[in-house]
Amino acid sequence: MSNSELEIVNCPACDSSDYSVWMLDGKDTRYVKCKSCGTIYASPRASWSSRYNWLDQEFAYGDNAIENALIRQEGLSYEAEIIKRYSNSGKLLDIGCDLGDFFSCFNQSEWKFFGIEVSPSAAEYIRQHYPAEIFTGLLNQTSLKDNNFDVVTMLDTLFYVDYPKADFKEIFRILKPGGYFAVEMPGLNYQMLRSRGLLCWLIDRQWTRLCTDSSYICWFSPKGLKKLFTTTGFVVDQTISIPSPSVSRSNRSNIYKLASKIYYNQFKSSSKHVNANSWAPRYLMIGRKP
Ligand SMILES: [Zn+2]
Repeated sequence: MSNSELEIVNCPACDSSDYSVWMLDGKDTRYVKCKSCGTIYASPRASWSSRYNWLDQEFAYGDNAIENALIRQEGLSYEAEIIKRYSNSGKLLDIGCDLGDFFSCFNQSEWKFFGIEVSPSAAEYIRQHYPAEIFTGLLNQTSLKDNNFDVVTMLDTLFYVDYPKADFKEIFRILKPGGYFAVEMPGLNYQMLRSRGLLCWLIDRQWTRLCTDSSYICWFSPKGLKKLFTTTGFVVDQTISIPSPSVSRSNRSNIYKLASKIYYNQFKSSSKHVNANSWAPRYLMIGRKP
């Protein structure tokens, strides 16, 4: 990759340019940590074309996508039940909808399904299996109507997004007044503890599973994510810790499964202070368009 393809950006959560270097791995890319909100993000980051090719392969319909869907199902059902407390019918748009499994958590007679999916083969799979209108591509390539959706979700997807603030503004525009936008992210402290150092070596037999020139371009802190919601017009209604589904992976040792279960159960059904969510495996932040 030539240097001319790299892109230098400010913090995607709060737009600050004040950072400390957080991770170097011998490439021209790196992760930095925002001094203002604690979000970790790639800058310089890999070119969009190389990241897009990776996303297209990663999410294409096939064994990898099917396994990922199975692992995620429990967490998706859990999140769907939370969302139904806010809204029990209407138009649901899921951005980055994988194989459409989130739709299976909702009643087809009460909801109309819409999705945005980057992989053409995954998008086609959803069209064949769900009564859903699916756009193949990215949110910024759509031309959706104003005040159109009751609920928009972006689950386990926001770390791939190039310009999160622009997407949040677009989602604000297409939501009906009173509509909800739910974002699922890994807890930042949990993710960093899990992804580097001893714990990563014990689980994966490698010292880090992070890679600065990958498609993972931002790891939001709960504080940074909240800022992104409020600066784009949303009111944050709730932030809810979510247990991680990865405990069900069949290739894990029993000790790992037991330890994970104990850890994850700490966070089940809890709605904690925003900083505590950083230690949860995942958290769901729900914003409302006033
Ligand atoms: Zn920031």
